[in-house]
Amino acid sequence: MDAEQFNVALSFMPKPTAQLRRMLLEKANSAEPQEFESVIAAVRSLFEKYTQIFSDAAPGKARAIRLHGLIDQAMEVAKSLPLSCRKGCGGCCHFAVEVTSDEAELLRDLLEAGIEIDFEKLARQSELELDSAAWGIPWSGETRCVFLGPNFECRIYEHRPIACRKLLVTTPADLCASSSSKIEPVRVLLAETIVSAAISLDGCTQGSLPRMLVKSLDGPRAN
Ligand code: SF4
Repeated sequence: MDAEQFNVALSFMPKPTAQLRRMLLEKANSAEPQEFESVIAAVRSLFEKYTQIFSDAAPGKARAIRLHGLIDQAMEVAKSLPLSCRKGCGGCCHFAVEVTSDEAELLRDLLEAGIEIDFEKLARQSELELDSAAWGIPWSGETRCVFLGPNFECRIYEHRPIACRKLLVTTPADLCASSSSKIEPVRVLLAETIVSAAISLDGCTQGSLPRMLVKSLDGPRAN
């Protein structure tokens, strides 16, 4: 299957996640055409199901909370794996985290409810592009997530973004605090399809957590 055929096969999804594209590309390159077609049909059916589910929810924090619940259910399968992720690790919390506009609204609400953060650092981080080399400097306070507590525990764990919910690894935790390419994140097709449906919704935008949060704080509330 060439690149054009692959893109046509995925054309029902406006914004598949990078991870979903990678998983399906691997399938396209390893499976018989008929098997690949049935995988695409299954993904399409799930994509349409979750698009329908999200279309009933108003944009904003309620839709983010619904998405988080669905992602947690989808990631349940990972619990049977030998995960290295532990409370108080926090290595991955020094990299750029992408959030949706709905999640930014939810984070804004948490700040308004009294969660304290370093706003000056948030503003500096908001200037960084997602692919900036400045992210991910091991244990750098400057790129550490503004929601990571002094004991390296997430202070908003219940409401952490999709990116944090999905990032689970079976490789040694030490590798997560480096830019190692040897990190092996757990990949769950259902979770990636759900996220692809959520970010394909009209009006749903994405960007780095700091940038989206600053934008949300500066702008009108979605609801
Ligand atoms: S939101 Fe929480 S889990 Fe996600 S990067 Fe920030 S501190 Fe880490």
